[in-house]
Amino acid sequence: MISPLMPTYKRADLAFERGDGVWLQTSDGRRFLDFASGIATCSLGHAHPHLVESIRTQAGLVMHVSNLFRVPQAERLAERLVANTFADSVFFCNSGAEANEGMVKMARRAQMLAGHPERTDILCMDGAFHGRTLAMLAATGNPKYLEGYGETVSGFPHVPYNDIEAVRAAITPNTAAIMLEPIQGESGIKVASVEYLRALRALCDETGIFLALDEVQSGVGRTGYLFAHERAGITPDIMSSAKGLGGGFPIGAILAREGLAQGMTPGTHGTTFGGNPLACAAANAVLDVLLAPGFMEQIRARGTFLAGLLDKLMADRPGIFAQRRGLGLLVGLRCIPPVGDVQDAAQEAGLLCVTAGDNVLRLVPPLTVSEDECRQAVARLNQAIDSLKATNTPSPVLEPAP
Ligand SMILES: *Cc1c(COP(=O)(O)O)cnc(C)c1O
Repeated sequence: MISPLMPTYKRADLAFERGDGVWLQTSDGRRFLDFASGIATCSLGHAHPHLVESIRTQAGLVMHVSNLFRVPQAERLAERLVANTFADSVFFCNSGAEANEGMVKMARRAQMLAGHPERTDILCMDGAFHGRTLAMLAATGNPKYLEGYGETVSGFPHVPYNDIEAVRAAITPNTAAIMLEPIQGESGIKVASVEYLRALRALCDETGIFLALDEVQSGVGRTGYLFAHERAGITPDIMSSAKGLGGGFPIGAILAREGLAQGMTPGTHGTTFGGNPLACAAANAVLDVLLAPGFMEQIRARGTFLAGLLDKLMADRPGIFAQRRGLGLLVGLRCIPPVGDVQDAAQEAGLLCVTAGDNVLRLVPPLTVSEDECRQAVARLNQAIDSLKATNTPSPVLEPAP
C-alpha cells in the first residue's frame, strides 16, 4: 500500500528532532555532523539564534499580506541584493524552479520588447539541473526526469558544458538567452572555467543574447563569493537564487539588470506567497550574517582548509576517492566505489552528505562551519573508509585518477 506521504524520495531512516549549528540530533539522541545542510540550503546551520529570533519576531507581527500591499521587509531585502550585486531589480518567489521559470519568462519578454519576438530559445547545458516544473524539466533535459510527463516543453536546446565553440555553433536567430549554472551541482559539482564564463559574457555582448545564471545552489556565499560568477569578474543579465537565501526558510529570487526587468510591469508576472514578510525577514537575517565584513573571506579560508584535509585523506587512503571538485564550501568527491555505499558508510560514521551525479559525494556544510568541525567531518570520512575497506572487496565503478 502506498504511504500517505507520497514516495517520491528514497529517504534515509533518520528523523531529526533538533539541530544546533552544524549538528543534527535524532529523537533517540544520535548526533550527526551535517555536511548536507538540507541540500546546500541551511546556510547558517540549524537553530541559528539570529535567524530563529528574526523569524519568531516577524511571525508574531505579520506573516503574509500578499503583494497587493507594500512589504517593507521585501523592499529592504531587494535594496540589499541590489546594493551587493549587478542587479537593479529583484522579484521574490518561493523556490529555485520557480525563480528559473520567471527568469526564462523575463528573458523572453525583454527580447520581445527589444523588437525580437522571434528570440525565445533558451540555450542550456548538458548536465544542467534547473528544477522540476514542466519547463524547467525541459531546461534540465535529463530524460530520466522527463519520462511519462508528456511532450517536452520546446525551446530549450542543449550544448556540452564548458565548451564555448559548441555555444557559438548552437546560436540561432531564435536564441533569447544562454542559461547555465556557474557550478553544476546536481550533476556532480562541475565548475565552469573563468575563461568560459568570460567568453560567454563577451558572446552575449556581441549578439544581444542574455546571459542567465542559475545560482540557486552556487549562490548566497556557498563558494566564498556572494554569487559564484563574481570569481570570473563578470556579471550576468539576469540570475536566479533560492536554496541558501532563506537559510532553510523557503524563498527564491530573480535578480535582473534594469534593461531586462523594465518590461515587468504590473500584471506581467505574479505570486501569492513570494516575498512575504516572514520569508523576507528570514532572508534579511541570513544577509545580516553573510554581509558582515570578512564573512566571505572566512568561507573561502574554510573551503581551502577543508580542501587541504580532503586532499590529505585522498593521499593517505587511496582507492576510495578519485577526485576533489568544487569551490569554497561546495565540494564534490568523485568516488571509486558506488557513491551510495560511501554515503551510507559516512552516515554510519555520523556524517551526513549528499550524493550528486557522476558518482560524486557532495559536501555542503553550513557556511558557519568551524575548522574543528571540518576536522571532525574528515575524521568521520576516514572512519567510513575503514568500514568500506572492511566490508567490501570493492567492485570499483571508477578507476582512480591517474
Ligand atoms: C535545487 C536547484 C534548483 C531547484 O530548486 P527547487 O527549490 O528545488 O525548485 C534549480 N537549480 C539549481 C542549480 C538547483 O541546485
